[in-house]
Amino acid sequence: MANKDVTDPARMEKIVSLCKRRGFIFQAGELYGGLNGCWDYGPLGTELKRNLKDFWWRKTVQERDDVLGMDGAILTMEQVLQSSGHIGGFSDPMVDCKTCKGRFRADNLETSQCKEKPSVCPGSSPKCELTEPRQFNLMLQTNFGATGEQIAYLRPETAQSIFCQYKNVLDSNRIKLPFGIAQCGKSFRNEINPRNFTFRSREFEQMEIEYFCHPDDGMRLTDEWLETRLAFYEEIGIPREKLHILDVPDGERAFYSKKTYDIEYEFPFGIQELEGVAYRTDYDLGVHQKGAGKPLEYFDEETKERFLPHVVEPSAGCDRTVLALICEAFDEETLTDEKGKEDIRTVLRFKPTMAPIKVGIFPMLKKNDEQVRIAREIQKSLQKWMPVFYDDGGALGRRYRRQDEVGTPYCVTIDFDTLGEKGDEFKNTVTIRHRDSMEQERIAIDALLPWLLERVR
Ligand code: ATP
Repeated sequence: MANKDVTDPARMEKIVSLCKRRGFIFQAGELYGGLNGCWDYGPLGTELKRNLKDFWWRKTVQERDDVLGMDGAILTMEQVLQSSGHIGGFSDPMVDCKTCKGRFRADNLETSQCKEKPSVCPGSSPKCELTEPRQFNLMLQTNFGATGEQIAYLRPETAQSIFCQYKNVLDSNRIKLPFGIAQCGKSFRNEINPRNFTFRSREFEQMEIEYFCHPDDGMRLTDEWLETRLAFYEEIGIPREKLHILDVPDGERAFYSKKTYDIEYEFPFGIQELEGVAYRTDYDLGVHQKGAGKPLEYFDEETKERFLPHVVEPSAGCDRTVLALICEAFDEETLTDEKGKEDIRTVLRFKPTMAPIKVGIFPMLKKNDEQVRIAREIQKSLQKWMPVFYDDGGALGRRYRRQDEVGTPYCVTIDFDTLGEKGDEFKNTVTIRHRDSMEQERIAIDALLPWLLERVR
């Protein structure tokens, strides 16, 4: 059993620094000092996040017959969140320290740091003076209308618009139970203590599925979804042995949940939640049926049974999964050259499907017009299909390393052999260099696109 407290701050520091240096993730508003708990994704981070979201959509919606997609509004009516219980109860217990003026989550004290003495947790130093815990609502409110008379909330989860549109989706789509509605999008929480890079943010994206079913099937489907989701993580490159399943015990689950699994990952800052798979019973449809005063029951034509569907919810964090992908991919490999000199190669070992750039394209010699012409032609033909990166600057080895550091799985080099200058054997072929093994092979230019498509999509 891995220890929750085993952390590797030095590794995390390197990851955060790489993310900034190579344009994966920047702090929002950095130019003006930074907005706490909010992040901007740079060019490579955006590609990585898109790859993840597209793959999730493909696996969850496109390749299944029983899940439909939706894209709900972020601004949410007060009544919706009143019924769902968020206005009354979506809060974390918070304590203040009168000495250091720090504000902490009362249920996370042991993993927080005292502001005056960061080596200890709040409450552990004799100087700490903690207040009694009080509830702090996590929702972000906004106003609209000409005089701002109308209140709305930035949604704290994507789920509520799914519950509210469940009947419309059902009625407009000739679909039967069990079926799911999936949504990927932004959610907002006024977290007391945003931290661990993007892990706990105030603005983040979720990938949620609400799977509606007959009450008899809820428990079984919860276990099935857990397996489906674990297989998903494996497919994107997060191995099963780095994931931990917490079967949330009675008393720690939401009061309406009959079963909840937390899928956790071994981050360098500890084992932390990536996704929750919760059996939410008929709680959600029940509260909206009551709140809106409109029936949300399902009528089964075959059994003539009328009932309120139950819901299984696999709810994943997109930013947390991006962070897990980066943490998992990050590697520093010691290489020894022919003279015995050691050197460290930084590599992001992303699965090709997740990698932000799929292929680097290099003319060996920048000054060779023919190599450049062919390299540009290859770039043009490949970039209709995938993100590529053309680079003719500096020594070839350096160009490879720059791509290793951002996780590009393949690099293509156009050299004198390509031009047929050393005979016809390799004419119109290029070198493909593999990121992980650093091995190289020769491939015909015409075969390049199918070779790559098979591996990167
Ligand atoms: P936590 O206990 O870490 O606060 P939670 O149990 O409140 O999370 P859920 O409400 O179940 O989270 O949300 C589903 C998923 O959304 C989480 O598993 C996580 O991946 C993501 N998520 C929730 N809050 C945040 C946040 N503040 N920043 C980034 N991702 C988040």
